[in-house]
Amino acid sequence: MSSKQGEPKVYKAEYIWMDGAEPTQKLRCKTKIIPIGQEPPNWGFDGSSTNQATGHASDCVLKPVYNCPDPVRGGPHRLVLCEVLLTDLTPHPTNTRAKLLEVAEKYKAHDMWIGIEQEYTFFSGIKPLGWPDNGFPAPQFGYYCGVGADEVYGREIVEEHLDMCIDAGLMIAGINAEVMPAQWEFQIGPCGPVQASDQLWIARWLLYRVAEDYGVSATLAPKPVKGDWNGAGAHTNFSTKAMRESIVACEAAAKALGEEHALHIAEYGAGIEERLTGKHETCSYKQFKYGVSDRGASVRIPWQVAVDGKGYIEDRRPCANMDPYVVTRLITNTVCSRAK
Ligand code: ADP
Ligand code: MN
Ligand code: MN
Ligand code: MN
Repeated sequence: MSSKQGEPKVYKAEYIWMDGAEPTQKLRCKTKIIPIGQEPPNWGFDGSSTNQATGHASDCVLKPVYNCPDPVRGGPHRLVLCEVLLTDLTPHPTNTRAKLLEVAEKYKAHDMWIGIEQEYTFFSGIKPLGWPDNGFPAPQFGYYCGVGADEVYGREIVEEHLDMCIDAGLMIAGINAEVMPAQWEFQIGPCGPVQASDQLWIARWLLYRVAEDYGVSATLAPKPVKGDWNGAGAHTNFSTKAMRESIVACEAAAKALGEEHALHIAEYGAGIEERLTGKHETCSYKQFKYGVSDRGASVRIPWQVAVDGKGYIEDRRPCANMDPYVVTRLITNTVCSRAK
């Protein structure tokens, strides 16, 4: 007898999309049961509950654009990242991915690679995970890349999230504990702007979802604790083919970013003024500068890149809550439109 009898006939597809929340879009998700062998189809949702439509004409369309194994449910189940469309199947105004696609296509000959460092902070109720009920932890010093129960909080969640990103097939590059206790980082890339952005959104969803099982929330707030505590960024590393061949192109890219500083700052995440103060390893948002190894600069040329005479540069300005579709579009446009 065939063993087929016990095999599932359907799979669970978790549709994931960005809502219309302002000033920062959030993730939403819902599950569709699909016969095995069928691709996830377009689907609808109530846009009046996500700030994407009015109650009178509430339908919005979910168009699957990227899917991967669902490491939470396992088995044949899938995570399905979607773009939001209007009912005439044109991009919804909140659909920032569609705008990136145009720019990425226009400049594809430059072969842009992106690597994003996503910082985030765990919260338990109203305070960062592991922080005392009264007062504060010891001042920042031993937490960055720390080890031990007195230095890091939430490692079991971080490890589980890392495994899930790997199982989902994401290009996760690494993880580390950050400067503020309960703050962590993972890195996605390097890969193309659309790929890196899609994967970052899936990795964010997985982070929220894994932490949910621990009763912990993960926030991308750029300055989750006021005062003498580091904010949370999303340093965006990038290289064009020319940059990977010569440091002259790396410097030209840094200069290009300087010419559009105000435009980028305006789109690098709500609350950026609170984070880019000039303290805590940042350059003030009012100023633009770049330099080798300089973590007080807007844009850093990594030391190894200066030694090799080629490679990539790091835009340190984007906040943890940035939209990677927007940030990678701006970088690609600003740098490639000025490149020779
Ligand atoms: P930091 O020293 O700033 O903490 P990380 O190691 O956290 O640096 O992140 C550096 C990121 O740079 C890596 O995640 C990787 O994806 C990215 N990266 C490396 N080489 C390139 C490249 N040539 N182009 C774009 N991104 C790159
Ligand atoms: Mn890093
Ligand atoms: Mn970091
Ligand atoms: Mn960095």
